Amino acid sequence: MSIQESIRIVGKGDVALVEWDLIGEKVNKLSSPVMARFREVINEIKTSSYKAVVLISRKPKIFIAGADIDEIKKITDPGDCRKLLDQAHEILNELEDLSIPTIAAINGACLGGGCEMVMCCDYRIASDAKETKIGLPEVKLGIFPGFGGCIRMPRLVGLQASLDIILAGKAVDGRKAVKLGLVDECVPQQQLEERAIKFANEIVASNKGKRKKRFKPRSVLEKFLESPVGRPVVFSQAKKTVLSQTKGFYPAPIKALEVIQKTYGSGNRQKALGVEMEAFCQVAVSEISKHLINLFFMMEDIKKQTGVADPQVNARPVKHMAVLGAGTMGGGIALLAADNGIKVRMKDITNEALALGYKAAADVWLKDLKRRKIAKHDFERKMSLISGGMDFAGFGNADLVVEAIVEDMEIKKKVIAETAKHCPEHCLIATNTSSLSVTEMAKAHPRPENFLGMHFFNPVHKMPLVEVIRGPQTSDEAVATVFEASKKMGKIPVVVKDGPGFLVNRLLLPYMIEAMFLLEEGMDIQTVDRWYTHKFGMPMGPFRLMDEVGLDVCVKVVKVFKKSLGERIQVPSVAEKFAGSGRLGKKNSRGFYLYDDKGKELSVDQTVYKDLGVGSPTNKLSEKECLERGIFTMINEAALALLEERIAERPEEVDLAMIMGTGFPPFRGGLLRYADSLGSQYIASELEIYAARCGQRLKPSQPLANMAKTNRKFYP
Ligand code: NAD
Repeated sequence: MSIQESIRIVGKGDVALVEWDLIGEKVNKLSSPVMARFREVINEIKTSSYKAVVLISRKPKIFIAGADIDEIKKITDPGDCRKLLDQAHEILNELEDLSIPTIAAINGACLGGGCEMVMCCDYRIASDAKETKIGLPEVKLGIFPGFGGCIRMPRLVGLQASLDIILAGKAVDGRKAVKLGLVDECVPQQQLEERAIKFANEIVASNKGKRKKRFKPRSVLEKFLESPVGRPVVFSQAKKTVLSQTKGFYPAPIKALEVIQKTYGSGNRQKALGVEMEAFCQVAVSEISKHLINLFFMMEDIKKQTGVADPQVNARPVKHMAVLGAGTMGGGIALLAADNGIKVRMKDITNEALALGYKAAADVWLKDLKRRKIAKHDFERKMSLISGGMDFAGFGNADLVVEAIVEDMEIKKKVIAETAKHCPEHCLIATNTSSLSVTEMAKAHPRPENFLGMHFFNPVHKMPLVEVIRGPQTSDEAVATVFEASKKMGKIPVVVKDGPGFLVNRLLLPYMIEAMFLLEEGMDIQTVDRWYTHKFGMPMGPFRLMDEVGLDVCVKVVKVFKKSLGERIQVPSVAEKFAGSGRLGKKNSRGFYLYDDKGKELSVDQTVYKDLGVGSPTNKLSEKECLERGIFTMINEAALALLEERIAERPEEVDLAMIMGTGFPPFRGGLLRYADSLGSQYIASELEIYAARCGQRLKPSQPLANMAKTNRKFYP
């Protein structure tokens, strides 16, 4: 079938109903051929006798998802970018300039270019479906609206609301869109088409015809903010907010702000679009945008993957789950399961622990209820999906049991063997251990093919990554089932092989160890943490991270690693002193930092230097060295884990896991993309210098040294 079929006009009396349904695609998106076809449709309408136009989608949950991201990804030359935008602007201007009234009937995602298109219509009606989301998420891809969105959105909803949408990449539902003035009506989904056609006929009959809707400030505050005195205040406040949120690492929202500042209120459409185009082309060709687009594709790829290579293997449904241990992790996992409609049974050894498990879930949903994110009946339904007890009641129905009890191999093995007796044959048991061997633990299960790791990160409901750890005997079906269940729970799964710390903790540990050495060498805790956050872009510095993990846990894991990885792990002497100093990190409000009762970080605890026997900071090391030692040691470890031990299969998996599991700055594209941007030769030579001075732990690993010989990259 041709592209002609993808956008077609169906006559409804005086109204031309333009149906969008891209053949062979899951979503409607605005690629160059699609835009060219839309231009034909507009031309057809121009020469017809129709008196009004209604745009509608035939995809069930998508209106138009946006421009074709693949096309944006390929743009490397600002000249090509201008050509692409020129074409899009011409077509959208033609839509805006049609002599008959135009109405967009929006059901489902109407994002980016889709939103920019409907803003060229005279009227907009949205459905009340929960899938209906209208907005401009471009900044998440390192770009900003380039099809006129920076000009038309502020005109439609005013300065403040438009900045909110454009700079934060927000989308709103139908009801909120009415409130903002972005759409004219919100109607039940089943009535959308009928209402839109009726609306079109009413417009035709009333001779109201075309209109150029403009935002009209109502309240005194709105009037002030839109005034020549108020506008600079809005812009400067918005800039401050963006800079504090992005730490200046993401240029797109700042550029968008400049465009809006230059064009807001301008009556010259062509000139305003020109300003937007020039700025857009600068960000579209930037490396940052390419990294963010790659990340988007990696996430899309996960949606299509099954976690196993064999296409014949199917995931089994997981309708009933059970969780062993209702503590920090178990409670969080139960919350997540119930939040996503899975019935879950918690088992713990005390009623107090179970009560805490319930409370953990209730607290999160109560917050959602308070913020009106969910209704009372949603809250009750979610709570009803969780139950708990101290026996194995309910385990007879379980499809998947996640074990989250104390981190002790012998106890875990005993509990796993016992649990397997109470579960059906097909039931999988997955351990959430963060440092113990899945291979060893599997020995306790009578059917080791049904045993694997499912490593969530803390806090479970916030951290997006799940490492699915495949033991030597784990079946493909088990991996596929846990992979699918993780997606169902809203997580991003990455399959990894068993090995110390699996993937993420394996790479993070040397980074934390290196920070301890920096401390021993006289570096100041806050200075190092700030360099990592404010200069490199990590969400928190290594010391703050260790506090979060727990200093006792860090020491325990360092020792586990030392046992299995030998020489490459050097235990810093400060680590040995943690125990004696009574510092557990954030959990007892005493670590490298001090915390208040609510866990809010106050300041670096200045007594820590003395307690750990390192003396007052002298801060003699450079920013470059402090950052390189921490980041390069992760790259060094990643080379081993990926290329020699095959813990992960592809560099994409390492990057995705590091971004989703540690918050490694997405604008750098991930650890290995960052490494490739520097070159293996440079990294290895720097590591050689540091190793000679600071210790063999920093010596380039064999796979990295091999890469350096020809300056080979991780990515092909
Ligand atoms: P926790 O101490 O908060 O909770 C453990 C719970 O298990 C407690 O409620 C305890 O009563 C219960 N328990 C102990 N023995 C039991 C048994 N035989 N049967 C049922 N319940 C039992 O610990 P946590 O932080 O939730 O950690 C649990 C597991 O998750 C550990 O293996 C840990 O390594 C791993 N993990 C922890 C984190 C983290 O940041 N806390 C992150 C990832 C993985």
